Amino acid sequence: MENCLFCKIVNGEIDSETVYNDDNLIAIKDVNPQAPTHLLIIPKKHFATLMDIEDSDKELMGSVCTVAKFLAEENNLETSGFRLVLNCGSGAGQSVFHIHFHLLGGRPMKWPPG
Ligand code: 5GP
Ligand code: ZN
Repeated sequence: MENCLFCKIVNGEIDSETVYNDDNLIAIKDVNPQAPTHLLIIPKKHFATLMDIEDSDKELMGSVCTVAKFLAEENNLETSGFRLVLNCGSGAGQSVFHIHFHLLGGRPMKWPPG
């Protein structure tokens, strides 16, 4: 997808601090962290929002959870807890329209989120 920030990060046109990389997903440090650990888990395939996925993307979307677990362990968040967040649409705070999951941890989290 042309002019998509996260497609450019995925294909290496724009630098990022990569913490995980496989055939289907990349995880990077958020440039403006909202918690001591703030990672973005990004499917390499471009979807603007969660509303664009299809049944055939089930396995890919499921793999986000196993990568989140791996990264939570790497960041010692298993016992303190962490949050896995997807903002869908500008009304929910989505600002980059290439699907991504925030993994946030390392500080107490409030509920409901703002
Ligand atoms: P959203 O608001 O769409 O849910 O989340 C977008 C996230 O991407 C924000 O937390 C923002 O800080 C992060 N972000 C925006 N531009 C860049 C960038 O160029 N590099 C990295 N690593 N993160 C970015
Ligand atoms: Zn994209």
